[in-house]
Amino acid sequence: MLVPDLLDDLDAAGRLDARSRRFLLELVYGVLRRRSTLDCILAAYSNEPLARLDPDCLQVLRLGLYQLLWLDGVPPFAAISESVELLSRRHAGVRAFVNGVLRTIDREARRVEVSLDRGGASARKRLDLSPERVAFFSKPVFIDPDESRALHLAQVHSMPVFLVERWLSRHEPALVEAILEASNRKPPVTARIQRLKTNRDSLLRRLVAEGIDARAGILDESIQIDAAPMDIVRSAAFKEGLLYLQDEAAMKVAHAVEVKPGERILDLCAAPGGKATHLAELASDEAEIVAADRDLRRLERVKENVARLGLTRVVPVVWDPLGEERPPEEVRGTFDAVLLDVPCSNTGVLARRPEARWRVSVDAIRELADQGRRLLHEAVKSVRPGGKLVFSTCSLEDEENRDAVKRALVANPRLTLVRQEETLPSPNGPDGGFFALFDVGGGGR
Ligand code: SAM
Repeated sequence: MLVPDLLDDLDAAGRLDARSRRFLLELVYGVLRRRSTLDCILAAYSNEPLARLDPDCLQVLRLGLYQLLWLDGVPPFAAISESVELLSRRHAGVRAFVNGVLRTIDREARRVEVSLDRGGASARKRLDLSPERVAFFSKPVFIDPDESRALHLAQVHSMPVFLVERWLSRHEPALVEAILEASNRKPPVTARIQRLKTNRDSLLRRLVAEGIDARAGILDESIQIDAAPMDIVRSAAFKEGLLYLQDEAAMKVAHAVEVKPGERILDLCAAPGGKATHLAELASDEAEIVAADRDLRRLERVKENVARLGLTRVVPVVWDPLGEERPPEEVRGTFDAVLLDVPCSNTGVLARRPEARWRVSVDAIRELADQGRRLLHEAVKSVRPGGKLVFSTCSLEDEENRDAVKRALVANPRLTLVRQEETLPSPNGPDGGFFALFDVGGGGR
């Protein structure tokens, strides 16, 4: 079960107020995000190898240490005693061990304002916690960057080392550090304005009237909001369909289609409907948008979003072009354009999907790239001669992006690449992602 779903269930049972919910989310996502950094520190201060610890005990140590280092609002004694309390059914020796490790780190690590950092501390003992805070440890915790830059960055930014190595092989170290920082930030909350129902000034006024601070985003159609997504979802403005929560990098993709009223567009991987509904809005709700996805449950989200945003010409349909089934009526024939936003490794959106970094592997990237290649091959068949194809991912990996484009161009003489654009995630900017726009020449199904 996903953490937000679990919290929804507790919420529904009346067992969680908004503050506790926010705190739990911060704790769970924080520990997920910082897991390998936490483990490096714990390994340095534990006299037992972490691999030999009971999994619950290790998890409790991570929860306690995350609070000590990152949560300003929790006094250290409370973080430690609450952590030990979580193990109340365990042997007294286990509790004493957890208590001892956390107390030692609390005593021996110093957290200070960045402005008070005099420099000179060994990179092995220092950890930037945020742009404002830095921690100094009493003993070496991380590998020396001169010994392995990739492993050092992986340890301090809590990232699998193979990902850091891949990024270092393609980008300058400073750029890789920016990607790593962006991958660990609290993601900005941005929304697309439903242009057919409101405009930016009215929406901003409306949100402020509901007690939600928001300001103009980097795009004409985006706003940045100072509230948790769950508070926005509960607002009347959201329920009335005046906005759609979406990252600004993702907003660029539907624009690449240049949809016009009267056209027929196919979104082949449409759920939960972010780009399909954007296409509908860009066409003034006067284009037919067939929103196909193989996942019936996720298609329900498309239906909800379409209804909430008040759109009338988005047609949700279950279809897997890689499956055996004959295409349903709605996706037969050809389209003026096809949008293909394929499932990917999510390495451009790790701030929003902190768990994705622990799932990704070279094999997984290869498999996803292969699935993308096969979906692209099928997608071309649905484009009319002279139509367009937009292929997109929220990955930073070449196999899933540029290599997929190169392979498609070789395999499909109908395709001509018009442009491709990669956005790298940056600490104060949007998420990362990639899209390619193709012209599709003659031939067809
Ligand atoms: N475009 C969506 C948006 O903007 O909200 C996000 C799409 S998400 C990246 C990828 C989607 O592809 C998932 O909903 C998944 O169910 C769907 N999918 C994966 N494999 C598929 C396949 N073979 N056929 C159709 N849909 C597929």
